[in-house]
Amino acid sequence: MMCLGIESTAHTFGASLVDSDDRIVTNVNSTYRPPPGVGIHPRKAAEHLATVADDIVKTALSTKEGSSIDPDVIAYAAGPGLGPCLRIGATVGRALSTYLKKPLVPVHHGVAHLDIAMSITKARDPLAVLVSGGHTSILVHVGKRWRVYGETQDITLGNLLDMFAREAKLPSPGGLSVSREATKGENLIKLPYTVKGNDVAYSGLLTAAATSLRRQGNLADLCFSLQETAFSMLSEAVERSLVQTRRSEVLLAGGVAASQRLRQMIGLVAEDHGASFHPVPIEYSGDCGAQIACSGRLAYESGITVRISDSFVTPRWRMDEVDVPWIPRA
Ligand code: AMP
Ligand code: MG
Repeated sequence: MMCLGIESTAHTFGASLVDSDDRIVTNVNSTYRPPPGVGIHPRKAAEHLATVADDIVKTALSTKEGSSIDPDVIAYAAGPGLGPCLRIGATVGRALSTYLKKPLVPVHHGVAHLDIAMSITKARDPLAVLVSGGHTSILVHVGKRWRVYGETQDITLGNLLDMFAREAKLPSPGGLSVSREATKGENLIKLPYTVKGNDVAYSGLLTAAATSLRRQGNLADLCFSLQETAFSMLSEAVERSLVQTRRSEVLLAGGVAASQRLRQMIGLVAEDHGASFHPVPIEYSGDCGAQIACSGRLAYESGITVRISDSFVTPRWRMDEVDVPWIPRA
C-alpha cells in the first residue's frame, strides 16, 4: 500500500509516498522564502505553492527509473494553517482522489509532525514536545487523543525566533539565522523569563529583545540570550511535565527541533529523569510531504477517510480536537 501525502499549510508545498511498512519512498518539497525583514504573506506563499504543486506531485510519484507509481490512498493536510495555502493542497488532493478513484484522508498537520517523529525514532507513548511555526506544545496521549499538557500562552517559539530575525533583517528561516548568530555571542543579557506552571509566554521576551536591538544592542549577544532564555523556559516546562506525567520517552518534533542547542537542552532533561530521548531527524523536522503521508497512512489504517463532498480545510484546529487511535504505537 502506498499513501501519497500532500503538505501545503504555510510556506512549503510537499508531496511524498510512504508504504505500508512506514518506509518513506519519495519526499519532494519546495519552500517559499520571503526576503529578509519580511514575513510570510499568505497570498504570496499560496502563489508559490500553486506554481510548484504540479512538478512536486509528479516527481513524488516517479520512480528513479522514470515510471510512475499509482498511490492507493491520498492524504492532504487539512489544517491548521493559512487558508489560501491549505486550499491549494486540498484542491490537489481532491482532484487526484477523484481522478484516480482512491480514498481521501484529511490529516492534522501537528499530529503529522508527531507521527513522522515517532515512526522514525520508534517512540511508543512519549511526552511529546512540538515546536514549529504554528505550535509550541507539550503533549501526552490519553484516551485516543493528544492532550495539551503545556503550551505557549501567546506566540510560538518559532514565531519568536522568526519575528526577532525579521527585526534584525536576518534571512529565513529565522530559527536557523538566530542560532548561527548565537554561536558568536559571549554575554548573557537578562531578558524576561516567563513560565507559568507547564505553560510559557514569549511575547514579553520578543518585545524586550527587539527593543534592545533597536537601541544598538549587540546582535550576537542578543541572539545568544534570546535562545538561551527561550529554550530554558521550555526546558523547565518540559521537565515539570515529564515528572508529573511519568512518561519514559521524550519526543522532540517540528521545525525548531532542528536546533542543536534545543536538542541538547531537552535531551539533558530526558537524561536527568531516566527517560529516552527521541529527537526527529533534522531532515524531517520542518514541514514536508512525508509527515502527511506517514500520518495519512496511519489514519487510513484506522478507518479514517472523508468523502470529497465532505472534505474540508480548518485554518484553526487544535491538536486535542483530533482522534488519534493509533497511539501507543506497537
Ligand atoms: P515548521 O512550521 O515545522 O516548518 O517550522 C518552522 C519553524 O522552524 C520556523 O520558526 C523556523 O525559523 C524554524 N527553524 C527552521 N530551521 C531551524 C533551525 N535549524 N534551528 C532552529 N529553528 C529552525
Ligand atoms: Mg509545521
